[in-house]
Amino acid sequence: MTAKVIDGKAFAAGVRAQVAAHVARLKEEQGLTPGLAVVLVGEDPASQVYVRNKGTQTVECGMNSYEHKLAADTSEAELLALIARLNADPAVHGILVQLPLPKHLDSDLVINAIEPAKDVDGFHISNVGLLGTGQKSMVPCTPLGCLMMLRDHHGSLAGLNAVVVGRSNIVGKPMAQLLLGDSCTVTIAHSRTKDLAAVCRGADILVAAVGRPEMIPGDWVKPGATVIDVGINRIERDGKTRLVGDVHYASAAEVGAITPVPGGVGPMTIACLLANTLTACCRAHGLPEPKGLTA
Ligand code: NDP
Repeated sequence: MTAKVIDGKAFAAGVRAQVAAHVARLKEEQGLTPGLAVVLVGEDPASQVYVRNKGTQTVECGMNSYEHKLAADTSEAELLALIARLNADPAVHGILVQLPLPKHLDSDLVINAIEPAKDVDGFHISNVGLLGTGQKSMVPCTPLGCLMMLRDHHGSLAGLNAVVVGRSNIVGKPMAQLLLGDSCTVTIAHSRTKDLAAVCRGADILVAAVGRPEMIPGDWVKPGATVIDVGINRIERDGKTRLVGDVHYASAAEVGAITPVPGGVGPMTIACLLANTLTACCRAHGLPEPKGLTA
């Protein structure tokens, strides 16, 4: 049996098209343009690429992009002052502070200084609490993208056994909350889990968010299960640098539906950032939220 490949690149293009269409209507009918402010502190090369991609895709969707690039030695007070200005700026509907921050800055303090309604990464403690209690919140982009693909593939997720491998605050925990919200029976596994293979084999939905190349082999996947591979790992193979997931793709793709790496969850993360910015703008103006783009 060869399973379906869930094409995150194509899915993300569809999400961006939906966002762009909604933004065009907002402009025409309300005279409103959603705006996303991205703050980058320092010169980490990977972060610079992410920020550039975010800015480009924001503009392509018809939204305003405001980039704030600050020196690596920016003080906490300066960064907090910028966030306060962005919080108060009505043209800014979403604020994202690119992580990781330089070591002298307290990430929790900085993230919690963002107005929760503008926290399009969904990392503010208020949004974490709202999600945990099943209330309307800003949802972290990567798990939101995974949820959208799962809903599209399965329709209803109710009653399915979901196993999330990884318990980080940015992927594993919010992913588990979202699956619970859709009435899955959820298990969260981590580095201390006993007999991870058996736990994984019980999953109708297996989400891998570990950061270990090809750690989950195909024989840990139940036939017919859906595998969402969040991992992005750089390895050397055949003299080339390659990106692989946390799941051994070739063997897992024999038994279940699966997201590839690259081209699976990755493209959905920025698409969901754009969706969250649009949602934040609609909420700020008391307008209906875009359908299918929120949790
Ligand atoms: P973290 O390092 O924060 O968390 C990793 C989790 O995996 C931890 O909970 C850890 O358990 C668990 N873990 C580690 N080793 C094992 C093991 N042997 N068995 C079971 N569980 C284990 O990573 P993130 O959540 O931030 O990211 C996970 C992966 O997803 C990374 O590859 C990252 O690059 C990728 N990622 C991809 C994104 C995308 O857009 N596609 C976005 C964000 C992340 P414990 O808590 O016990 O230590």
